[in-house]
Amino acid sequence: MASELCPSRGVVTRFAPSPTGPLHLGHVAAGFFAARHAAPSGRFLLRIEDIDMRRCRQQFIDETLEDLAWAGLHWSGAVIRQSGRMGLYRETLEVLTDRDLVYPCFCTRSEIAREVAEAASAPHHAPDGSLVYPGTCRSLDAATRVRRIAAGEPYALRLDVRRAMAEIGDGPLTFREADRGDVVCDPLAFGDVVLARRDIPASYNLCVTQDDAAQGITLVTRGEDLRDVTAIHRLLQELMGWPAPDYMFHPLLCDAMGRRLSKRDGALSIRAMREAGMTAGAVRAAAGVGLLSEG
Ligand code: GLU
Repeated sequence: MASELCPSRGVVTRFAPSPTGPLHLGHVAAGFFAARHAAPSGRFLLRIEDIDMRRCRQQFIDETLEDLAWAGLHWSGAVIRQSGRMGLYRETLEVLTDRDLVYPCFCTRSEIAREVAEAASAPHHAPDGSLVYPGTCRSLDAATRVRRIAAGEPYALRLDVRRAMAEIGDGPLTFREADRGDVVCDPLAFGDVVLARRDIPASYNLCVTQDDAAQGITLVTRGEDLRDVTAIHRLLQELMGWPAPDYMFHPLLCDAMGRRLSKRDGALSIRAMREAGMTAGAVRAAAGVGLLSEG
């Protein structure tokens, strides 16, 4: 799997935006952060993470490529789109299902919220703030699963994290932070995460991990908000025999009020800055390009 797309030597980094809105300064900062860590002799790749068909738009993909190029970001090789790789993610889900590491979960969001509230002893929230699934459907017998699926009940596929941890064996699971050394991580804190559901047939956690392996990424750079969930990526790597890249996490850009820049909150887009006459150099400076690498 690791050599499926482009085996390569040296540091290989990538920028992997989700085209759900216009690019803002945070994207420019993150893209250049990744590119700088591949320089001078490595490779910097661009991947479009467009698995959420309801929110991703072709227009945003086109604008993303154009805006990044205008800002002066240069990537190697072809741009990979996750929407074209669903068959590969499905194969991984089949492997995990055959190994009994994945199970169908029929719970709705409101059922999960109620179950979590009732399960007083278990931790309610994962490190990323999401609810920890209490495992209700984990123990359903095979006949019930088959009957409910045959009846057309919608379901998600969840990773049985306890079983997966048992399978990879003893010893702490760690990832290597390139600038800090080994970090012990805890997939159990996330509970049985969703790897696929009806509207999004493969989850961010699965696709990002599989593609980093397939593209031979040796250094994953991403925002600090994704540090904790790296635990799930490390678990998937161990389960699938994918190599473990190094990691670096950069701070997220915030507005004057200290709020993280976000497409949803209408952070000023690169396109708007460009149309207002800002130069690419001024946009890079506003994104603190160069500063994040130091800090
Ligand atoms: N596609 C993810 C995002 O836009 C980032 C992927 C990653 O770096 O893990 O937030």
